[in-house]
Amino acid sequence: MPDADAHPSRLSSTAEHVDLHTLRQRQWRVLRSGALTIAVVIVLILIAYANRDEVTIRACGERMKIAAAILQQRAERNLPRTAALPDPLDPNASSEQTEAVTRLREHGYYNVLYANQAIFKPQAGVACCGAPHTRLFGHSGRWVIVYEGSRRTYEVEWMSELEFEQRAADLGLRAARGQ
Ligand SMILES: [Zn+2]
Repeated sequence: MPDADAHPSRLSSTAEHVDLHTLRQRQWRVLRSGALTIAVVIVLILIAYANRDEVTIRACGERMKIAAAILQQRAERNLPRTAALPDPLDPNASSEQTEAVTRLREHGYYNVLYANQAIFKPQAGVACCGAPHTRLFGHSGRWVIVYEGSRRTYEVEWMSELEFEQRAADLGLRAARGQ
């Protein structure tokens, strides 16, 4: 009788051991796939944020280029003088031009004295982003419209915040810092 009992009990203990092992393996697999899913979701969120930063920067750059083109056009009509940013309510402006100028006046910094500075300096800062664009990956920075005196052109440049800090005073854009 005791012999008959011992045998099944040993079997059941081995079976329990195997079950426990399988269970642990299954738990580990569940944990691992859970961790992997979380990691993938985090990476996707980071990519979405980084992409949003780039889209915002590109859209601001496009508006800056439109504003620079408007200034260029006005300056060419006004030779040999520089041009002022037009009134956003100008009835002859297209909606794209109106938006670019309005955005620049509201969210950007416009150096009303740039034309005076251009008399004495080869370059003058006309306008820039009112605050730096931050980036999840990479340096934050701003778009700057620079008037090149020798060529009489309005160039749009992307400057990292470090470069902007170094050049702001020389370009006459010091007031835009810390806004
Ligand atoms: Zn901007």
